[in-house]
Amino acid sequence: MRNRVAVRVRPLTEQEAQQHCCISFIPDQPQITVGHEQRSFTFDYAYPPSSDQHHVYDTSITPLLHKFVDGYNSTVLAYGQTGSGKTYSMGIGLDSASSGGIVPRFVESLFTELAKRQTSSKVYVSFLELYNEDLVDLLNPVKRGEGLQVSIREDVQGNICWVGVREESVSTPQQLLELLQKGSIARTTASTDMNRTSSRSHAIFSVILKQSLEDGTRITSKFHFVDLAGSERLKRTNAVGDRAKEGISINTGLLALGNVISALGDVSRKVSHIPYRDSKLTRLLQDSLGGNSQTLMLACVSPADSNYTETLNTLKYANRARNIRNRVVVNQD
Ligand code: ADP
Repeated sequence: MRNRVAVRVRPLTEQEAQQHCCISFIPDQPQITVGHEQRSFTFDYAYPPSSDQHHVYDTSITPLLHKFVDGYNSTVLAYGQTGSGKTYSMGIGLDSASSGGIVPRFVESLFTELAKRQTSSKVYVSFLELYNEDLVDLLNPVKRGEGLQVSIREDVQGNICWVGVREESVSTPQQLLELLQKGSIARTTASTDMNRTSSRSHAIFSVILKQSLEDGTRITSKFHFVDLAGSERLKRTNAVGDRAKEGISINTGLLALGNVISALGDVSRKVSHIPYRDSKLTRLLQDSLGGNSQTLMLACVSPADSNYTETLNTLKYANRARNIRNRVVVNQD
């Protein structure tokens, strides 16, 4: 199964109101054209600024939800520069706009779907933040400076397991959304305490579904929602000192992700080594990248002329992710 890639263009902000748009669309085509050179990219979905949250969810996430309830692992990766709409689209921020995003919609539809299917099921949630190479369990934050003892192992079937991460059991959409909010508050608090910005960290919100089918088979599926750190180049942020170190480190995670994507997507030659171990981010997400997961990359971009270079970089990055093929199977316990 091939990875799916969506691109979403946010509206111009008030500050950008005087600028020109560097992006154009062909109506009803998943194609996007950028810049004076008119470079075109074709994705699985291309959402213009007029696309609302409901449309984005319905077209790109609903099919994943159905497969998830059938027992398949799923991942959505939001990629793009800071301010391009990743958190807004994923709905894992604290502002009111976030309530219309993908995760809150997913939570409502998941419980509706489970009620329809009437299988015996249990839902669990975890919420991790990866900052530099430090992992923070947002549902079980440890004291400042103490790293979380999370280890990453492979089980007998070769699936990646996160050991030491708190998985909270939930039985209603409200409980799940409360944990989402609790984790989002912990993420903001951590960034304020440590004088850092959450746009430099990766957040992974996961929903784990365990089901017992009528014939007694037990299956587990995981859905990871990943709000990646801002992809902007360090030079542009004028970072110095610690900030520069953070920037470099975060770029290392995204760079490693890019290298994994390239190796997996290189259909012209058989690449045997995929550099998952080059960063914690790629190791954590190993199953989601060319492994046992149906994956959607949601590339978020700004249409403003001033962001042209970053927008083009994001489109190129997303374009590489199109060639990845995953081997998707149901996980039986
Ligand atoms: P990021 O997470 O990529 O840093 P945000 O999601 O915080 O970016 O978005 C930056 C700002 O733009 C926020 O104020 C957000 O509400 C707004 N925004 C982003 N995408 C859209 C959209 N599609 N429609 C309306 N406003 C948006």
